[in-house]
Amino acid sequence: MVHLSLEDLYKEVILDHYRSPRNKGRLDPYDIVLERNNPLCGDEIELFLKFDGDKLEGISFDGKGCSISQASASMMAERLQGASIKDAADLAGGIKRMMAGEEEGDDDELGELIALKGVVKYPVRIKCALLGWDTLVEALEESGKGVPS
Ligand code: ZN
Repeated sequence: MVHLSLEDLYKEVILDHYRSPRNKGRLDPYDIVLERNNPLCGDEIELFLKFDGDKLEGISFDGKGCSISQASASMMAERLQGASIKDAADLAGGIKRMMAGEEEGDDDELGELIALKGVVKYPVRIKCALLGWDTLVEALEESGKGVPS
């Protein structure tokens, strides 16, 4: 694999997911839907979750807004298909800490999600990058499946 700088990776991955969003559209059937927005930028995310026991059987999103908000939600939905709820909550926590500059983020563990780290140097866009993840954490809490951390 060619090693890309964080800057290149950021541009490539964000643009790719923005142009070709994964898991976009209403999930049918779903167990919970939650809509949140980021008024600072005008981003909107509607997140659909379907549970199977302690797993996320399905996750999809709908929405509109800037490339960062939509690409981040697309990456999240792609990554968490079939994931355990605990892993989903842990990953969301890790992404939030990375975006807050509290953690470096592990390339191996995060895969292309490490590209989101490129947003850290644009503080006004961090809320864009976290919109989907914040919505996920809230949805897990509302569903009673949130993992206390
Ligand atoms: Zn935005």
